[in-house]
Amino acid sequence: MSKLSEHFHDYEFVCPCCNGGIVSEILVLKLQQLRDTINKPIKVTSGYRCPVENKKVGGAKNSAHLLGEGADIYCKDIDIYKLAGRADLIFSRIGIYPDNHFIHVDIKRPNPSKFWVRHNGKYKYFKPPYNHYDDVYDYLLRNKLL
Ligand SMILES: [Zn+2]
Repeated sequence: MSKLSEHFHDYEFVCPCCNGGIVSEILVLKLQQLRDTINKPIKVTSGYRCPVENKKVGGAKNSAHLLGEGADIYCKDIDIYKLAGRADLIFSRIGIYPDNHFIHVDIKRPNPSKFWVRHNGKYKYFKPPYNHYDDVYDYLLRNKLL
């Protein structure tokens, strides 16, 4: 077990099926930055996934988790929409999973867009106006994305 940053440890990112894992230093740096921004603990529910685990959980074929460049996270003190808003300035891609109460963050190139929401099994991609980054929930409701 070793520390990757002030608040993150390597064991938080290992694959649950094989304990294997790689984790991008940039990803950790950004997670720490997000953690510093909100000043609350962040729980990593999925970090690295080997191909077997990724298939098992229904991850995308080119998932950032396979490269150690993505993480699923939540903070019990802040709702996922606010967390997504805070993550906007830090991560290149943010997925919101209201049915599972976590957000996915990664450092991959946005394609087809920076944000998505997965609700009732459907993915919807969106790009909120920059100055609305704090009101992701309102944006989703207004645009019937929830
Ligand atoms: Zn595995």
